[in-house]
Amino acid sequence: MSHSSEIKCPHCGQWTTWTGKVHETCQQCNGVLDPQRFSQAAEKQNKKVENPRKADFFPPNAKDGPVTRELKGLVNAMGWIVFYSEVAFYCAVIGVVVIIGFIAG
Ligand SMILES: [Zn+2]
Repeated sequence: MSHSSEIKCPHCGQWTTWTGKVHETCQQCNGVLDPQRFSQAAEKQNKKVENPRKADFFPPNAKDGPVTRELKGLVNAMGWIVFYSEVAFYCAVIGVVVIIGFIAG
């Protein structure tokens, strides 16, 4: 009895054998067959050396000029402000709902 099975490659759409290994690649295009699982495993490995700047919406590129870099920094800062505002808004809504629940109850 074999553990290998045929799965459809998410990259090229070809059928290829997959034995359930995390880092298994497609026989046709060499793409990783289970990118989600692969990225999770890679994430665990990279967690210690992870650069917090990687969480930016537009990561700085070595080819970027000073103006592009400045713009990206600005857009990233704006993105985080919007993100935290949204989180704060939802927390406020939940807080109000809880308070109303206490009053009504
Ligand atoms: Zn493929």
